[in-house]
Amino acid sequence: MPSVLIDGKAIGAKIREEIKRDVERLIERGCRPGLAVVLVGEDQASRTYVKNKEKSSTAVGMKSELIELPISVSQKDVLETVDRLNNDPTIHGILVQLPLPPHIDESKVIRAISPKKDVDGFHPENVGKMIIGQTSYVSCTPAGILELLKHTGTEISGKHAVIVGRSNIVGKPMGQLLLQKDATVTYCHSKTENLEAFTRQADILIVAIGQAKYITAEHIKEGATVIDVGMNRDENGKLCGDVDFASVKEKAGALTPVPGGVGPMTVTMLLKNTLQSAQLMCSKYI
Ligand code: NDP
Repeated sequence: MPSVLIDGKAIGAKIREEIKRDVERLIERGCRPGLAVVLVGEDQASRTYVKNKEKSSTAVGMKSELIELPISVSQKDVLETVDRLNNDPTIHGILVQLPLPPHIDESKVIRAISPKKDVDGFHPENVGKMIIGQTSYVSCTPAGILELLKHTGTEISGKHAVIVGRSNIVGKPMGQLLLQKDATVTYCHSKTENLEAFTRQADILIVAIGQAKYITAEHIKEGATVIDVGMNRDENGKLCGDVDFASVKEKAGALTPVPGGVGPMTVTMLLKNTLQSAQLMCSKYI
């Protein structure tokens, strides 16, 4: 049975329309949501991501500020930039594009961002709140995946969710969010022995490993919902996921494509978090 294609592009576009309307309402009341993105160095992939975030935020009517710093910038200067943005009332969301050059302490920079403007959800205060189920900014990719599951009517409660990959920005928060939705959660990683034995049990399989087409039909339980986070290049230089789409689509019940699955949801959640921050901050004076 061919699987349902989970169209992140369409779902993301629908949510961005709602965000746009809310932004217009805020602007009418004298508050324009503002997102600042700090980019250090010349990494092409980072530049592409940042440009996409800039384009998406202006498309919904937000103010977008891009701060480009040279690769030689000192840690002190990065921290001062973050501090200025923390104190800028026209900025409601701050994002520092990772990775940073090795001479800069990434965790120190993340901790310098005001948790109230941490729309990436990477600050330890937001991560901690998320884990204990308090309102917080949640890392955009896992938040976007939850939206995909919601929009496709995927049942989570009581289901077995298997997460392959345990990064701080995708795998770990993803498992915690599904746990809060009453899934039974298993984490797998590069040291997991007999990966297939776990993935084959998954009702919901989330793959975020950065290995092109690694997960094949043999890893999948018939009818499972499969979410492919990976963004890789295949042998022909074509964008592809961590899941072998061609074989898995014949066995999974529902599957995200790459591109057009998780990617559009990540940027959508960034805008949603920025809007939420602006709504909270602006409610104090409008
Ligand atoms: P990281 O490199 O930070 O983490 C990769 C994780 O995968 C690690 O936990 C690693 O295990 C695990 N892993 C690697 N190889 C295997 C394997 N063969 N079997 C099982 N586990 C394995 O990656 P990210 O989480 O940052 O990103 C993962 C992928 O998702 C990348 O392709 C990235 O580009 C993409 N991505 C896409 C986004 C989007 O919006 N679409 C957003 C963020 C990421 P260990 O911990 O043991 O090393």
